Amino acid sequence: MENVDAPEGLSSLAGLGSPVIGRSSTFARKVGIIGAGSVGATIAYAAMIRGVARHISLFDIAKSKVDAEVLDLNHGLLFAPQATVDGSDDVEILRDCDVVVMTAGAKQKPGETRMDLAAANAGICKKILPDVVRVAPNCILLLVTNPVDVVTELARKITGFEWNRVIGSGTVLDSSRFRYLVARHCGVAVQNVHAYIAGEHGDSEIPLWSSATIGSIPLNQWAVPGHGRLAAADKAEIVRNVKEAAYQVIQGKGATNYAVGLAVTNILESILYDEQRVLAVSGLLKGFRGMEDVCLSVPRIVGCKGMEPPLPIPMTVDEESGLQASAESIRKVVKDLGY
Ligand code: NAD
Repeated sequence: MENVDAPEGLSSLAGLGSPVIGRSSTFARKVGIIGAGSVGATIAYAAMIRGVARHISLFDIAKSKVDAEVLDLNHGLLFAPQATVDGSDDVEILRDCDVVVMTAGAKQKPGETRMDLAAANAGICKKILPDVVRVAPNCILLLVTNPVDVVTELARKITGFEWNRVIGSGTVLDSSRFRYLVARHCGVAVQNVHAYIAGEHGDSEIPLWSSATIGSIPLNQWAVPGHGRLAAADKAEIVRNVKEAAYQVIQGKGATNYAVGLAVTNILESILYDEQRVLAVSGLLKGFRGMEDVCLSVPRIVGCKGMEPPLPIPMTVDEESGLQASAESIRKVVKDLGY
C-alpha cells in the first residue's frame, strides 16, 4: 500500500473511514464543468436529471454555445430535481465549486488515438487550471479531457493540489463497457458483473480477468448451462471490443457522450454523497506494484475527500506486467511534454 499523507477534501462532510452518509436533505453542492461540448453538456444533463448537485455551472470560451446549452438545460428543470444551472465564458462562474470537472479540449477525430491529443490539451490545461486554483482552491478536480491519465498528471503538477483530489475519470467508462460485453455474452444483468479495466484509458489498458466475478463466481470458472462460457477467443473478442469502442462510436457519430456522461456522474455521486464506491479512477501511484509517480487507473475507494490509495487487488503476473507497460507508455508522453 502507498505511503501517503492524510487527504484533504470536502471538509464539512464525513471523513474517510466514517459511515457512508447517503443522500442528505441538507445537501447543496456546486459542480462546475469546464467545456460545454458533447461531453461537458452531457455530464451536465446526466448530473441534472440525477439530482447530483443543487448548483451546476458550465464554463466555455464559446459564449453562444455555453449560453445555448444552459438555456436548453433550464427549459427541462421542471422535470428534474430542483437545481440552479448557469454558465458563462467567464471563469468566475466556477467560484467556490466543490467539484470541477474538466472536459475542455480537442477530441479524437476518426482514426486518432487519445495520446495524439496530448500536446493540444496540455496547452489548454496550462491556460485554464491556474484560474481554477484561483476561483475554487478547495475543489476536487475531476479530469475527463483526453489523454486523461496524462492530463491528470499535468493537472496535479499545475495545480499543486494534494494527490487525493486530482482524479481522472480513467477506466470507469472502459470498465462499464467491459461489464456490458461480459454480461451480454453470459446472459446476466450488467450489475451482477464485477470486473475492472486498469491502466491507461486508451490503447494500452488491460482487463483484470483474474479478479472478475459474476454473482461471486470467478469469471475464469464461469460455466452455467444456458449462460455461455468464456473461452480464450471470447475473452480476446471482448477486450478488442472494449478497446475499439470509442473508435467505433466516433466513426459513427463524431463523439462519445452518453456513457461518459453517466460514468462521470457516477463518480460525482460517490464524491458528493461520500458513497465510498470502488471505482477504477486515474490517479497518482506511489509505490503500487513497483510503479511510481505516474497516473493511471486501478480500483480505488472514492468519497467526499476524493480518492484513496489503490486497493490491493489480486493480479496475475501478466496483468501486473501489462499494467507496468501501460504506466511506461503514459510516463513517456508526460515526459515528452516536458513535465
Ligand atoms: P467538443 O469539441 O464537443 O467540446 C470541447 C469544448 O471545449 C468546446 O465547447 C470548446 O469550446 C471548449 N474549450 C476549448 N478550449 C477551451 C478553453 N480554453 N476554455 C474553456 N473551454 C474550452 O469535445 P467533446 O466531445 O466534448 O470532448 C471533450 C474532451 O473529452 C476530449 O478531449 C475527449 O477526447 C474527451 N473525452 C474523454 C472521455 C473519457 O472517458 N475520459 C470520453 C469521451 C471524451
